[in-house]
Amino acid sequence: EEDAALLAHELGDYDDEAPLRLDPVLAIVGRPNVGKSTLVNRILGRREAVVEDTPGVTRDRVMYSATWNGTNFTLVDTGGWEHDARGIHARVADQAEAAVDLADAVLLVVDATVGATATDEAIVRMLRRKKKPVILIANKVDDIQNEADAAALWSLGFGEPMPVSALHGRGTADMLDRAVELMPEFSEHGGLERSGGPRRVALIGRPNVGKSSLLNKLAGTERVVVDPLAGTTRDPVDEMIELGGRVWRFVDTAGIRRRQHMAQGADFYASLRTQSALEKAEVAVVLLAVDEVLSEQDVRILNLAIESGRALVLAFNKWDLLDDERRRYLEREIEQDLAHVEWAPRVNISAKTGWHKDRLVPALDRALESWDKRIPTGKLNAFLGELVAAHPHPLRGGKQPRILFGTQASSRPPRFVLFTTGFLDPGYRRFITRRLRETFGFEGTPIEVSMRVRE
Ligand code: GDP
Ligand code: GDP
Repeated sequence: EEDAALLAHELGDYDDEAPLRLDPVLAIVGRPNVGKSTLVNRILGRREAVVEDTPGVTRDRVMYSATWNGTNFTLVDTGGWEHDARGIHARVADQAEAAVDLADAVLLVVDATVGATATDEAIVRMLRRKKKPVILIANKVDDIQNEADAAALWSLGFGEPMPVSALHGRGTADMLDRAVELMPEFSEHGGLERSGGPRRVALIGRPNVGKSSLLNKLAGTERVVVDPLAGTTRDPVDEMIELGGRVWRFVDTAGIRRRQHMAQGADFYASLRTQSALEKAEVAVVLLAVDEVLSEQDVRILNLAIESGRALVLAFNKWDLLDDERRRYLEREIEQDLAHVEWAPRVNISAKTGWHKDRLVPALDRALESWDKRIPTGKLNAFLGELVAAHPHPLRGGKQPRILFGTQASSRPPRFVLFTTGFLDPGYRRFITRRLRETFGFEGTPIEVSMRVRE
């Protein structure tokens, strides 16, 4: 027990009263082909594969978690999103602007072998207006001979260009040192309320599932405040809405209301909005439309929500359009494609008529309660003791990995660490996870079980 407490401390125990803080955000911008994606891969150490520019391959992610020398930050990658050449200067600058609005610092990437082009200059003009810290990266400086090319970029007016080779890694350590120096400890764009403030909800889903309809229905005449402070320079992003007698903060509603999805580059904005809303939220409501077959895009958005570690509620919208035949298919779809989120509460709604909209709050409450939940170490170990006695880990090569003890290292979402004498089989870990859910609930929250092997 003492050992467990000590280790919980060592793991950085979570303070439930602490404000919800976000890692600082670093945006990488630049015109196509300067090497942004290559640089992102370099920074992430290829932990996450950034899909190559293959036509027809839809990307999910704009934002990635990254670490440099113990500092965590969020990387926003604008590379590889734009293929269309029409009106390209303006659109590249627009996408960059959307990313920069979220950022605490910016890496402006320029191809040193080409020099500054008209598109680079359009981005530079936008960055001047934003007044965010900018590091000018002279990329493709693969060796010392090219360093003169880098010096020519002084003319852009962002100080000394840092010569970098994204391809070979040259100069990237210095670049990251600078970036970490420039970024605040926590993002200044997520708000830093205490846990006593309104809970933060993200409404997400593919275009046309009914996000803005639901928002309008919920806000109705009851919309309390539009909070301009948390916003980008252009828009207020959050709305406070009173539901069930309490105020909730719906994050990034400007992105929902702006109806950008008809415009060029729609996927980029949708993805940026989805991920940034998830970052800021405590609970996500993923909308699915029941009148259409569940799409790959629905599943990808749902998976982003799961991976974000936020509490989760599934809202099946457009229920007014459901006929008997479609209903039978829907049930099969849920069984087949949504089995991995059977733990999420489901509400059937119609954003158009307002039918069942009052079911949303109880579901949000249940999900958040699970997300916040802490299992005392004593109780957890009693549970583990019984479970292991009844279902020991299968023998492996005559040996049996044992669980010494476990502790919940954090909540929001609940994360458990098991101290073991050997690696537990993935199947056994899934079994433990299932039993944790059966025993302690956790409806509406992802949970994580990891191991620390002690030899
Ligand atoms: P993006 O469109 O800005 O994301 O650019 P990419 O990362 O896709 O890179 C465009 C091209 O430049 C690719 O062929 C890369 O291999 C190449 N490239 C990227 N960084 C470097 C570099 O540091 N040196 C050289 N020589 N080529 C690079
Ligand atoms: P968003 O792109 O996710 O914000 O979706 P919208 O709220 O703009 O809705 C897309 C379309 O679906 C609009 O024509 C809405 O009127 C319609 N819609 C949204 N919710 C419902 C619903 O519950 N029932 C019906 N019949 N139509 C809906």
